[in-house]
Amino acid sequence: MIENVNMERMRPKQLLAAIAKCPVVYVPLAPLEWHGPHLPLNVDAIHATAVCEGVAQIVGGVVYPTTYLGTETRRSRQELKDLGFQGDEHVVGMDFPANSVPSMYLDEGVYGIVVKEIVRLLKRTGFQVIMLMSGHGALNHNRVLMRIAAEESDDQCQVVYRLVFSTSNEQDTGSTPSYDAEKDDDSAAAGVGHASRDETSLAMYLCPDDVDLSELPSMTRTLHYTDWGIVDGNAFVGRPTKGYVVRPDDDPRKATPEHGFEFVSSNIKIIADEVRQLLHR
Ligand SMILES: [Zn+2]
Repeated sequence: MIENVNMERMRPKQLLAAIAKCPVVYVPLAPLEWHGPHLPLNVDAIHATAVCEGVAQIVGGVVYPTTYLGTETRRSRQELKDLGFQGDEHVVGMDFPANSVPSMYLDEGVYGIVVKEIVRLLKRTGFQVIMLMSGHGALNHNRVLMRIAAEESDDQCQVVYRLVFSTSNEQDTGSTPSYDAEKDDDSAAAGVGHASRDETSLAMYLCPDDVDLSELPSMTRTLHYTDWGIVDGNAFVGRPTKGYVVRPDDDPRKATPEHGFEFVSSNIKIIADEVRQLLHR
């Protein structure tokens, strides 16, 4: 039988026993967000939750209820140009003008206050390590979490921020990997894209009934970033394709549940190792 790791389903005695065994709590954090017409709004959250639950099953600890909170900010002129826009549009995060529904981004200040309050309550509950586990890649979203981790860590409790994407954890800053011209070649993908092959695959693995690839056009048509709100990781670091279309290797129409399983499993393994190190186990 798989042990329950979800805090909301625990009775007080069970919660205290779980904390005594491993005093770590994982907080999955991601907004409901546009992820193309083919994916549900909770892709980032379902990913963060799966990684938190997977790590808790391996290392121990408790998973706080999935927190559908996140923020975004206005894109700079350069970012807009890299995505194939003119540069003078007002675009917040992945809320591209062609999207049919808006994303649920909180104001950055409000987001920070709410997360800080959750951290305060978790400290009071007796956790010694609080893992803020972000499924959302926005720079300002992650900067807020990094700031809270720094401000709230003390002798009794360590607050740690982590992006749940394996490729981005190489950097302690939590920022999108920066572009290295020396290493530039078409085969090298930079980080995780948005609603592209990786995220579509993880959704096909974690919530297959919620994915509908028939919402995308046939393979004969290229996917323009601006038309679909689907972007490869390279475009986010200033390396868009020539026509501002999704890079073939990152095409969501090439997604498979098997790739999703591998992607999620490797993210679980990397973070489980980090938590073990934190706990010296
Ligand atoms: Zn996402």
